[in-house]
Amino acid sequence: MQPRDLSAHAPYVPGRGTEEVARELGMDPEDLTKLSSNENPHGPSPKAVAAIEDAAPTVSVYPKTAHTDLTERLADKWGLEAEQVWVSPGADGSIDYLTRAMLEPDDRILEPSPGFSYYSMSARYHHGDAVQYEVSKGDDFEQTADLVLDAYDGERMVYLTTPHNPTGSVLPRDELVELAESVEDHTLLVVDEAYGEFADVPSAIDLLSEYDNVAVLRTFSKAYGLAGLRIGYACVPEAWADAYARVNTPFAASEVACRAALAALDDEEHVEKSVESARWSREYLREHLDAPTWESEGNFVLVEVGDATAVTEAAQREGVIVRDCGSFGLPECIRVSCGTEAQTKRAVDVLNRIVSEVP
Ligand code: PMP
Repeated sequence: MQPRDLSAHAPYVPGRGTEEVARELGMDPEDLTKLSSNENPHGPSPKAVAAIEDAAPTVSVYPKTAHTDLTERLADKWGLEAEQVWVSPGADGSIDYLTRAMLEPDDRILEPSPGFSYYSMSARYHHGDAVQYEVSKGDDFEQTADLVLDAYDGERMVYLTTPHNPTGSVLPRDELVELAESVEDHTLLVVDEAYGEFADVPSAIDLLSEYDNVAVLRTFSKAYGLAGLRIGYACVPEAWADAYARVNTPFAASEVACRAALAALDDEEHVEKSVESARWSREYLREHLDAPTWESEGNFVLVEVGDATAVTEAAQREGVIVRDCGSFGLPECIRVSCGTEAQTKRAVDVLNRIVSEVP
């Protein structure tokens, strides 16, 4: 007995985890600095931790399916109707929900290259396909409406990642407006703002009041430090009010996660501290790394190192885990997540030593 032919479905390649690397290299996980998955190095808000502890007894019952407390709170934050907020297990879950809502078999999505791999994975799971526009056409990974429109051929969904993973570039608002006004009526623009809190540019969520072809993804995994709880959301057009119940996975976002997210929203100080720390770290990385880097508005920096696999492996042996961007189609680059001051300085010391030695 075999599953169906899954050869067209490439597995998701995550940044390497501390335990995996520690086991492989026979090291103590405590000695490793993990800067491979763009997590919050300061951890979750203490308020979120308290909410998780308080919510622990709820795990014997199924969570609410409507997640009303959280959707109302988020709707209030962003000036939306509660029905426009689709809570999901991470932004990954939102990608699946939007795919289910949009794609018929053989429909296509248009996505950035290099880019986040789950867009096309989700499309393919749902019997669609993916084509790409090149974010890497210019040396600076600049994102423009023209780059997208040159490749656009009536796809049902167009993904725009801003700040963009793994380059850190942003799509300026006027370019986004141009896209909203240019694409065909049947196309949904999906603005992925997983790293939105770290950017200097405002969110695109307010565009939902003007354009009915825009959806925005956000997550609690990054600035809010709740990656392990799997909680995120999509902001969708007003006319989609009854679609959530038709496309979501039942009970996919736990009550624990929803209550932690609410508590995290209440701790603005923790988010501000986390964002400020990430901004410091990315500037420090850019100033002190002896290798070309790109300006980033995310909580990570893309670094050109030559042989990314060799550098990633050498850094691991020295206790620093970074992301080899070969899986993004950038085999000469690594992505270094923003860390605490000590982590950032350790990464710079280790990487500078390695880059000077690896040909
Ligand atoms: N979008 C982008 C651009 C990402 O980099 C990630 C995670 N690395 C996600 C979405 C998904 O994040 P999560 O499911 O943890 O919310």
